Amino acid sequence: MTVVGSANADFTMRLPALPARGETVTGGRFLQAFGGKGANSVVAAARLGSPTTAAGFVARLGNDAQAESMLAAFGRDGIGVEHVTRDPEMPSGAALVMVGDAGDNYLAVAPGSNHRLMPEHVDAAREMIADSAVLLTQMEVPAETVRHAIELAAAAGVTVILNFAPTVEADLDWDKVDVLVVNETEAEQLGRGATLEASAVALLGRGVGRVVITLGADGVLIVEERGVTRVEAFEVKAVDTTAAGDTFCGALAVRMAEGSVLEEACRWAQAAAALCVTGLGAQPSIPTRSEVERWLQSR
Ligand code: ADP
Repeated sequence: MTVVGSANADFTMRLPALPARGETVTGGRFLQAFGGKGANSVVAAARLGSPTTAAGFVARLGNDAQAESMLAAFGRDGIGVEHVTRDPEMPSGAALVMVGDAGDNYLAVAPGSNHRLMPEHVDAAREMIADSAVLLTQMEVPAETVRHAIELAAAAGVTVILNFAPTVEADLDWDKVDVLVVNETEAEQLGRGATLEASAVALLGRGVGRVVITLGADGVLIVEERGVTRVEAFEVKAVDTTAAGDTFCGALAVRMAEGSVLEEACRWAQAAAALCVTGLGAQPSIPTRSEVERWLQSR
């Protein structure tokens, strides 16, 4: 499988409570880890995958030490980094994350080199994409790059999963998207329906194959032509929900690459996402396949 997307260095602080505007909250615990929607998803795909679903990444890192560390970390996770390039002029993407006691968070992102991932970089990875069962991408890199990746994948008969996050203005070929994954806010912003389901139906009207709306602790809604299916989330104590959606998407991509039907893939992906929310930080809290299997058996 191939992920085309962003990579960030995350600077995370866990706090007794999130500060109000202008307020200082002390007593924090600091963690530096790696994140970015693209990188989180490809790490999830690598940890949760099998030899048949080997994960490759198409991304642009910066000219700094963070990039070296991120590349080394991708290598430790067994991710294909042949198409992870370095921009000589830009810093790597960075994110500031504050996490409150209830697992709620504030996020601020400086995209840096992620905004220099161009369609030509996707072209260079044409073969890797065409050899994949699934392409997974998100909106933290330029929309023209996402559009191009979707076009290449669709032309090669590769299943396209688009996690439309964050919400940006983008002119995409919606009919080339097999599965669109959005959270509640993104669904409303993108579909503009009176209800969540109406928003999803509006997206189906644009040609999207199926829509998966993630609802945090309330699970997911699968919306397709033949109707709406609700898949419950797993009950866990949330420590930090950072990367829950990305873990869900990476896991979903793995199961779809293995031929699971969407509902079953969503159930398993939610188990992976549930384990992710029990740990602090983005990539440190993404579980492995055996951790998910053991956890599901022990329940
Ligand atoms: P995002 O982080 O992109 O907004 P969500 O918050 O909807 O996405 O989370 C994605 C998935 O992660 C959910 O569908 C659910 O399976 C899982 N998840 C998130 N938060 C929790 C939680 N508190 N308890 C259990 N599962 C959760």
